[in-house]
Amino acid sequence: MSPANARSHAVLSVATKRRDAVNTVNAHPAEPVMPSDPTEYFGCNVFDDKAMRRYLPKNVYKSLRKTIDLGRRLDPAIADVVANAMKTWAMERGADHYTHVFYPLTGLTAEKHDSFLDPDGKGGAIAQFGGNALVQGEADGSSFPSGGLRSTFEARGYTAWDVTSPAYLMESPAGMVLCIPTVFLSWTGIALDKKTPILRSNQALNQQATRVLRLFGVDPTMPISSNGGLEQEYFLIDGTFVSARPDLLIAGRALFGAHPPKGQEFDDQYYGVIPSRVLGFMADVQRQLYRLGVPVKTRHNEVAPSQYEIAPSYESGNLACDHNQLIMTVLRKTARRHGMSCLLHEKPFDCINGSGKHLNYSIGSPEVGNLFAPGDNPHENAQFLVFLCSVIRALHRHAGFLRASVSSASNDRRLGGHEAPPAIMSLFLGDQLTDVLEQFRAGHVTGSAGKRMMNVGVDTLPPLPADPGDRNRTSPFAFVGNRFEFRAVGSGMSAADSLVVLNTMLAESLDYAADFLENIMQGDDSRLGEAVQKFIENVMEENSAVIFNGNGYSEIWQKEAERRGLPNHPATPDAVTVFSSPEVVELCAKYHVFSRQELKAREDIELEQYLKTLRTEASLAIRMARTQIYPAAVRYRQELAASASSCASLGIPASLDTLKELAEVIGRFEVSLRSLEEKTAALVWAPAEEDLLDSARECLNVIIPAMEELRGWADKLETLVADDLWPLPSYQEMLFMK
Ligand code: ADP
Ligand code: MG
Repeated sequence: MSPANARSHAVLSVATKRRDAVNTVNAHPAEPVMPSDPTEYFGCNVFDDKAMRRYLPKNVYKSLRKTIDLGRRLDPAIADVVANAMKTWAMERGADHYTHVFYPLTGLTAEKHDSFLDPDGKGGAIAQFGGNALVQGEADGSSFPSGGLRSTFEARGYTAWDVTSPAYLMESPAGMVLCIPTVFLSWTGIALDKKTPILRSNQALNQQATRVLRLFGVDPTMPISSNGGLEQEYFLIDGTFVSARPDLLIAGRALFGAHPPKGQEFDDQYYGVIPSRVLGFMADVQRQLYRLGVPVKTRHNEVAPSQYEIAPSYESGNLACDHNQLIMTVLRKTARRHGMSCLLHEKPFDCINGSGKHLNYSIGSPEVGNLFAPGDNPHENAQFLVFLCSVIRALHRHAGFLRASVSSASNDRRLGGHEAPPAIMSLFLGDQLTDVLEQFRAGHVTGSAGKRMMNVGVDTLPPLPADPGDRNRTSPFAFVGNRFEFRAVGSGMSAADSLVVLNTMLAESLDYAADFLENIMQGDDSRLGEAVQKFIENVMEENSAVIFNGNGYSEIWQKEAERRGLPNHPATPDAVTVFSSPEVVELCAKYHVFSRQELKAREDIELEQYLKTLRTEASLAIRMARTQIYPAAVRYRQELAASASSCASLGIPASLDTLKELAEVIGRFEVSLRSLEEKTAALVWAPAEEDLLDSARECLNVIIPAMEELRGWADKLETLVADDLWPLPSYQEMLFMK
């Protein structure tokens, strides 16, 4: 084969996928969006209050409504009637299957479909769906991670409808399926999912919040519950690029890729005009979600190229988590239909922002309102300050637990990356509120002359700032006027874990607050002001270290936080060990959220997932380096060498600099590739339970740096090798072509 032939052969065999991808993207038209009126179809696929009223006898409706509002268990006496109504409603809309949807510890959504049809014994079939099938399902749990909670002989788990999350119909080209949101437990009552602890922690929160409210003369009849508003970030990349990049396809992130000449530095993307193809996708997503009763509200471009955000209005925390799982499912599914791929990985591309999921958190009920909202009068504000200070205390005491709730190999890549909150959990209060609380504390220090004293003695408490004013974006946990925004949750993970930690740690602080106030008041309501005053002083005295209004991305904060004694665990292997710490075990046992065993299982599963993720990434990196990057580099070296020797034989002067540099980089690349192969072969990837932590730490300290080194040389090669030989779609193609 002549050199020219060899070259064209190489182009065909190596870079065709990439070229095809580029050509397809250019040819892709934007989908037309037909106008529609969402008020006409919002919630049409949900067995909601309207459907219940229509399909249930009045007394059954009333009983079910009460069960839902009070968060109780479904009365077995009405289960059959409810199930039958649900079946009729679903079948009228074309459903032929039902499934209990549950949320296993992988953080994903799981479902097993059952047909409504049963043989009638006469050769035909009848549609059946009884109360038992609604209330309880059986699921073989042996293939879900359980962290040693179930040995295989008792692998069966059961699922049970969570009445506070309505059933809905999932549409697909294969037909409609009735989906019933459920908890997933072992037969011995151990939580094998992410929903059960939410319900448990809500109960603890309700109990303690109610105690505090009673001291303020409020006696709620409805449960106090957490509310959540989840802003979801994601990347949208053309599907052909993803199929030409095994790393995006399998690991959800680019393991290689030289930085593009232009990234996000022009700030030209955030809130920019949404490209029409993307807008078509967003409109489609929104309509499906409306039908599912998910109240999506906002959509916009995010900071990085090809990064976007979708956010629904807030709902009860439990429902918000279920709806967020639905949002992720619909995003992924719809992207495929539009020839695109939705990347929910926390850091798909190295040199630009990663994606998070902000959990906006508040507590309250329709009856008592939002307990994190400052009120209109001093009495309400005193109550607000007690709840606010309880959050401050909770975060200070359980920062490590909250950090652990957002740990994963992928989120580690984002936290602390000068774009996302650091792994140090601090609280942004804003200067005004901080000042108010500091003045309370000053009141405790006798003789701090000149300083205006705050006094809760009811009429002396001044109006509180309604809005903290400045919007600090660098804090992981920011007070934003009437809620807290927890920004460390990863885009691809379930928000349930963080919600559970927030509820539980707050329950404990409210318990403390109620004890503290009761102790001073001794049943005398007129001493409420004095008691609140002392409580605020006490909280600020012991916990103000966790308040930080400055720049959370700065180096100075890292040092300052260390001086203040705040925990800082940038990596998952260290972060998740708090699950088995005595403080967390005691906290969770006291409020019946997790047993010691359940916590240990979660720690083990986090470590297992960490190892599995990195094992996949390391083998993928090796495979791509060996079979895609190395061959391209060697072919180009050959081409340069052939050209140099032709020039020499013709007596034409030609520089060998590029060839030498390329040869040098290929050499380094080979060395680091071999090193990663050896290290990967030596690591114990599936260790015994007691060695999980050691393996994960080794992975962090040995495998990740080896992968980074290999990537460094690979990315250097991308800037040297002829573009038409390079097999992988480049960053600029993936991020800027849509
Ligand atoms: P931003 O980007 O400025 O943070 P967004 O509008 O994108 O604001 O998202 C704010 C989220 O906070 C929405 O989901 C909104 O419904 C939610 N939210 C608003 N008020 C509350 C509240 N009291 N409790 C919980 N979430 C809330
Ligand atoms: Mg936002």
